[in-house]
Amino acid sequence: MQPKSNIVHLPVYQPGKPVEDVKRELGLTEVIKLASNENPFGCSESAKEAVIHEISNNASIYPDGASVELTKVLADRLGVSTDSIIFGCGSDEVILMLTRAFLVPGDETIMADQTFSVYKHNAEVENARVVEVPLVNGKHDLPAMLARITDRTKIVWVCNPNNPTGTIVSKEEIDAFMKQVPSHVLVVLDEAYVEYVTDPSFPDGIELLPSYKNLIVLRTFSKIYGLASLRIGYGVGHPDVVRFINQVREPFNTSRVAQAAAIAALKDEAFVAECRDRNSEGLNYMREQFDRLGLPYFDAHGNFIMFDAKLPSPQVFDALLRKGIISRAGWQFYPTYIRITVGSREQNEKFITALEQVLQEAAVLG
Ligand SMILES: *Cc1c(COP(=O)(O)O)cnc(C)c1O
Repeated sequence: MQPKSNIVHLPVYQPGKPVEDVKRELGLTEVIKLASNENPFGCSESAKEAVIHEISNNASIYPDGASVELTKVLADRLGVSTDSIIFGCGSDEVILMLTRAFLVPGDETIMADQTFSVYKHNAEVENARVVEVPLVNGKHDLPAMLARITDRTKIVWVCNPNNPTGTIVSKEEIDAFMKQVPSHVLVVLDEAYVEYVTDPSFPDGIELLPSYKNLIVLRTFSKIYGLASLRIGYGVGHPDVVRFINQVREPFNTSRVAQAAAIAALKDEAFVAECRDRNSEGLNYMREQFDRLGLPYFDAHGNFIMFDAKLPSPQVFDALLRKGIISRAGWQFYPTYIRITVGSREQNEKFITALEQVLQEAAVLG
């Protein structure tokens, strides 16, 4: 057997550790997972009802491959035409389809050196050359990314807020950047956490679309809508770009259940507003506590915050795990940093208590 030579070295994606595994391995009864930026408040009640209804009535029927009804509801909400929207099995799949549609071996694609790992993974599957540009203070350096564009560049990835650092680029910065990006380069603006952002300088990618044909915005139902298990996300861009993606899309890439849940979730604006408010409170709490503990952190705008534990992060990760908190560690350029999801108030307090104990124990052991 002979797989593609460029995939042989690729790592298998390592997700946040599942709660059940940790309970079993460490004999814990209570485990809090703050590792995957999931919504601690679940999802909208009406989305649950939609799921039950679809499962009960239509499980044997193929989904509508084009997601016509959901597309209408979303297009209406966003104020875009229906042919500007593409759905994926999570926005992860939209990323995959983008690389599949645009990248051939030897093409260049530009991204931050610490950002969402799915961009690089899929670019490497296509044997494209990945150009990584260092973050500055955890933030995308758009002028430096611009300077790396060549005739071979096909896609530039901008994650806003950036995962894992949580930082944002402003409307001014993205506008200045987009004005200079040549039209042969597609810019992917990943806004998986857009609904959480409250900073007034933050750009709404959808509003930028009329000005830039070479821009596509990615969003998801996995984060604030709390539907991560159902796997549905989307891209919004120029109809020409969306058509290219549709040409490589699998016929039934999103399920009936996911489409129905997404429609219901979009209509429950109160749930989203409530989650955003609670998340803002949680972020404030985390910042206060890190300040009190003297731990630096990046300027966070999503539902997670990345802080400097001032100790090797695998050690802190393990110690937190033994206290029943699953965090995310092992960032290549930030060896002492941990990314933690903002949970419910109770979860956040338990996390801080555990962290404080971990830091004290480490100090005693010297
Ligand atoms: C979570 C996340 C996604 C995608 O999630 P899906 O579940 O595949 O929709 C995309 N981009 C970033 C930056 C994320 O954090």
